Amino acid sequence: MKTMCNECRYTFALKEESIETECVDNDRKIERRLFKCPNCGHKYTILISDPQMRDMINQRAVIRDRIRILREHNFTGDELAEQDEDLKNEIWERAQQLKEEYEKGSFTE
Ligand SMILES: [Zn+2]
Repeated sequence: MKTMCNECRYTFALKEESIETECVDNDRKIERRLFKCPNCGHKYTILISDPQMRDMINQRAVIRDRIRILREHNFTGDELAEQDEDLKNEIWERAQQLKEEYEKGSFTE
């Protein structure tokens, strides 16, 4: 994935290993996944998550695995697909909330 830094216009390939996780709130166990521009060090947030959200993300992985297995055996897996869709929406909403809460101003360095 090629990405361009909005700050310095440097273009670079984003690699899995350059994604870092940092704790933003010890009490609530809020984590931020981020990467830095290799040129100017500007930080970019990928995702802010709380334990509840990480749970939902894990649940989705399990559900999608089950759907895959069902479909391999010619079942539709529709019910599970619905659950998956619900979880996806919940995760998205949670992500927006956390972003609002934790990304106000403090993030630009
Ligand atoms: Zn930069």
